[in-house]
Amino acid sequence: MQQRAIAVSACLLGHKVRYDGADQKLSLISNILAEQFKLIAICPEMEIGLGVPREKIELIINGLQTRVQSTQVPFVDLTSKIQNYAKSFLANEMIFGFILKDKSPSCGVKNCKIKNQQGVVNNNGTGIFAAQIMSLKPNMPMIQSDRVINTQALKLFIQQVNVYEY
Ligand code: SF4
Repeated sequence: MQQRAIAVSACLLGHKVRYDGADQKLSLISNILAEQFKLIAICPEMEIGLGVPREKIELIINGLQTRVQSTQVPFVDLTSKIQNYAKSFLANEMIFGFILKDKSPSCGVKNCKIKNQQGVVNNNGTGIFAAQIMSLKPNMPMIQSDRVINTQALKLFIQQVNVYEY
């Protein structure tokens, strides 16, 4: 039987794709999951053409909308590019779950830093890529990296991946 595919933030698999050229390798992911599932590395920021190293990006509340933009003037809004990448990724790959890097303005599932128009920062944002996947596939199993180390949370995620239906 063909292995189910899980998309994983590339930096968690050891790819040096972070804005500063580093990775965020979490060996647990490949150690535990690589035998059962096909792991597909994704980096939304690289996929939309941002290189390494690159300027940091951040989440901003603009009216009722959450946007992601560069941190230096002139501010460049990258929201649509990342949303479009998420859409085309789902259209081209049969994915049964996502493991995404926490705290990232692209990949973070929750508790990401987000700034309002007055510059006040809260920690209740969701990365733009993760939010777009949730909006397109609300039942898609998804876990962020700070939860992967929790045995129960990881077990539940694996169960969800195994029963997820298209
Ligand atoms: S958190 Fe996401 S966007 Fe940032 S480096 Fe990792 S894979 Fe790329």
